Amino acid sequence: DGEIEFDNVNFSYDGRTTALNGVSFKVPKGASVALVGESGAGKSTILRLLYRFYDLGEGDGRILIDGQDIRDVTQKSLRQAIGVVPQDSILFNSSIGYNIGYGKLGATPEDIEAAAKSAQMHERIISFPDGYETKVGERGVRLSGGEKQRVAIARTLLKNPPILLLDEATSALDTSTEKDIQKALQNLVQGRSSLSIAHRLSTIASADVILVLKDGQIVEQGSHKELLAHD
Ligand code: ADP
Ligand code: ADP
Repeated sequence: DGEIEFDNVNFSYDGRTTALNGVSFKVPKGASVALVGESGAGKSTILRLLYRFYDLGEGDGRILIDGQDIRDVTQKSLRQAIGVVPQDSILFNSSIGYNIGYGKLGATPEDIEAAAKSAQMHERIISFPDGYETKVGERGVRLSGGEKQRVAIARTLLKNPPILLLDEATSALDTSTEKDIQKALQNLVQGRSSLSIAHRLSTIASADVILVLKDGQIVEQGSHKELLAHD
């Protein structure tokens, strides 16, 4: 259902330097967790390990989803359970509808339109007379950064995974685009467990738990209110 646990996780990319050092935390089902910390603190590494871009060695701790070690889950079912919205999505040189529906077998044009709406793409909805594979409408590759993010959000809404990994762009979008994206992200995050590399203050403030990382370790954790009370 989307409960995540990191249990004493250690990780090194090169066998010499430490990327994560004894990291333990839980994300209860449906909760949102914001990862904050300087560049190099280990935020991306946490997301990459959960998605199994890299595997933990024996004795380097465990990562569990709903109590099950992710090394015992097939890559395919793991990736079905996890949706990723990266900073910068690479889209196919095809219609927006195709880009949204890609990977979701049996999605109808209505499903795609509904996902596009939830991703705040009202003004961008195109018709799919012969289904979403029709190569009509605007091409994914020509979209702006904000529009690409909305396509990624719509695609993830359609996939409907219990877990979300979000990497917020450090390269700022303009303010009005940013606001639209925020609404779309709220629709996406609602009811799912999420781990976000958080740069936006609004994401940090609205997270259920904030994990502060430094040099591969969690140095503080708590709600926004709790962390403010510490200072
Ligand atoms: P961010 O703060 O957005 O995570 P970073 O500067 O930490 O940006 O990293 C950008 C990318 O560069 C990361 O996705 C990572 O894969 C890569 N990277 C970071 N450090 C190293 C390194 N020491 N060796 C190789 N690649 C690295
Ligand atoms: P953050 O996302 O917080 O910026 P990362 O998780 O990317 O931090 O990096 C944690 C540590 O791992 C840093 O010391 C970084 O240089 C190193 N690192 C990240 N990616 C790579 C990589 N692909 N190869 C080698 N070292 C990396």
